[in-house]
Amino acid sequence: MKYIYGPVPSRRLGRSLGVDLVPRKVCTYDCIYCQVGKTTRLTLEREEYVPAADILRDVHAALSEGDKGIDYIACSGSGEPCLNSAIGEIIAGIREMTGVPIAVITNSSLLSQQEVREALLRADCVMPSLDAATQNSFQEINRPHPAMQVAEIIEGLTAFRSAYRGQLWLEILLCQGINDSEKEIDALRAAIRRIRPDRVQLNTVVRPAVEASAVALTLDQMELIKSALGDTAEIIADFTGMRHVALPEKIEERIIRIVERRPMTPDDLVRVLSLGTEEITMIADKLIAQRKLKPRSFNQQLYYEIDTGEPSKKVS
Ligand code: SF4
Repeated sequence: MKYIYGPVPSRRLGRSLGVDLVPRKVCTYDCIYCQVGKTTRLTLEREEYVPAADILRDVHAALSEGDKGIDYIACSGSGEPCLNSAIGEIIAGIREMTGVPIAVITNSSLLSQQEVREALLRADCVMPSLDAATQNSFQEINRPHPAMQVAEIIEGLTAFRSAYRGQLWLEILLCQGINDSEKEIDALRAAIRRIRPDRVQLNTVVRPAVEASAVALTLDQMELIKSALGDTAEIIADFTGMRHVALPEKIEERIIRIVERRPMTPDDLVRVLSLGTEEITMIADKLIAQRKLKPRSFNQQLYYEIDTGEPSKKVS
């Protein structure tokens, strides 16, 4: 089954069976935050890159193996799935095979084309992304094919919403210093008002990216943007997996100030400071060695508290 992966646990879709519609890194964008690598074919040409019959044969084989507890079949891949000109036929073919809901994860770039919008109408959930609503930031973060205009993509998303009755979850990936300013968030808010997605899902660079210029926001910064974008916005970034992120300034003082208020678990600090578990453990070990913090066990859970020089109370 060459074109199927998983089922994989997905934060947004539960257990999803992935379907690869295009070869690796055939894409309309070359995003600075891409986890797959640099785009090798930057194109707007829609073709049957992978024949629909081959994909449907693989989906059928995967489903024939019995109940895998799949919540969604996700048409995505390591490129832009709507570049496959047979995507509508593929969705319709899967629909005939199973009642498992079908999701499409797309970068939105081709939704300005009516035939692409029509092809996605039979999906249960469409998850388009829109990282910027100004042309400059769009070019900086997504490095699209030179012919692409973000205004046309927003038009396409708006037209799709008008015709589509399923769930529309708009993902925005935020990068430090590129699409997180007040001006950029205002532009995104105006676009969201037009598109009317069911959910706005905020993400940031929590996995190694193709370019070092793609830097994550902290959870605090994400929370501020979430409030600015209204009730449908939610944070989907999984900060617990963050690695290779430069430590914020004065991080040791910040940890001490937080722990002064109340003892914190490593997971609490991961959430509050938007760092990975490894980084928190490394800094806490250093502060323990300097006798600024001390570990304490409570209900079989590790906490950090301020080291006052007094022995810890025995707690079970
Ligand atoms: S749209 Fe997706 S696959 Fe294409 S470059 Fe961006 S992150 Fe990578």
